[in-house]
Amino acid sequence: MSISQEASQPHIALFPSAGIGHLMPFLRLTTMLLSHDCKIPFPTIIRFEATSRSSHLIHPLLASLTPPLSAIFADLVVANGVGKAAVDLGVRNYIVSTTSLKFLSLMAYLPILTTSDAAKLANGAHKIEITGMTPFPISSIPPPFFSADHGFTATLLSNVKALPYCNGIIMNTFESFEPESLSAIKNKRALSNLPTILPIGLLETYELNINQARYLPWLNDQPAESVVLLSFGSRTAMSKDQIRELRDGLERSGHQFLWVLKTKKVDKDENEEDLEEILGSLFLERTKDRCMVLKEWVNQQDVLGHSAIGGFVSHCGWNSVMEAARNGVPVLAWPQHGD
Ligand code: UDP
Repeated sequence: MSISQEASQPHIALFPSAGIGHLMPFLRLTTMLLSHDCKIPFPTIIRFEATSRSSHLIHPLLASLTPPLSAIFADLVVANGVGKAAVDLGVRNYIVSTTSLKFLSLMAYLPILTTSDAAKLANGAHKIEITGMTPFPISSIPPPFFSADHGFTATLLSNVKALPYCNGIIMNTFESFEPESLSAIKNKRALSNLPTILPIGLLETYELNINQARYLPWLNDQPAESVVLLSFGSRTAMSKDQIRELRDGLERSGHQFLWVLKTKKVDKDENEEDLEEILGSLFLERTKDRCMVLKEWVNQQDVLGHSAIGGFVSHCGWNSVMEAARNGVPVLAWPQHGD
């Protein structure tokens, strides 16, 4: 590439937060930008809070890049530190939200929720009302959101305050999926201090090679749209009781299923039990002709694209929801932990 070509090439620093659910959309965004001939530095730090706390340290690294940056695309949880660096460097700064628009609006509303609304809630209110949007039932809101002192909420609070100063918010969603929320925010009926929302979903999925995957021969043998996929994200583990309930329900349902079972939470040093200990050898024996249970990482986006998959029982992490939408797979939603 010649020097003049390199100078005109968009040079965009992508700054994700920690966790697969955050990294996945950033990797997809990277794939998309690379196909448009962008040059992309991609700094990562492992832990969620550490990423947020350290984000202001990125300034010298970004300032030293050649050619100079054209823009920064940063995760919402580093909006504050990266926003300041972007102002100093004089580059455009876009926030990438890895959630739904509705969840983004709830996060943007946190400064009010944790202050003036807190008193109303203490007096028994049952709904959160953001003007212009369908009210949120209190039961659907993650409990930490009611406490400004909670580490997760404090991290979000310090970063959502920076949202009004960025050049736009890039969202992995699309108009016909969230028309009401998009119209309320775009037309300034709700959260009028937010910058332009850029719904660029469905994000392209990059190619993964699942040809070697252990489950593939079994999936290939199943009739079209006959298998239910059960997978509950990258972070959470169900309790043993929930796992046993699910096991019994699956057996009684008589359906074919592929169950991606996580028995331990991410980043936790816990002893891993094997499948027989958790589910019982009799269950595995009785269902072996019509089911597959896996305790390993599967390439979920590719499994969802397999012709044998006809349904998806999901915890409704936003990436999973978008992957199901992309592949036209109906979801039986079992939201967990605020998703
Ligand atoms: N995922 C995967 N294999 C697994 C578990 C998860 O490929 O065994 C991917 C899934 O396709 C999605 C991401 O990890 O892209 C999880 O993000 P999501 O927002 O659905 O849930 P989270 O893990 O953040 O709760």
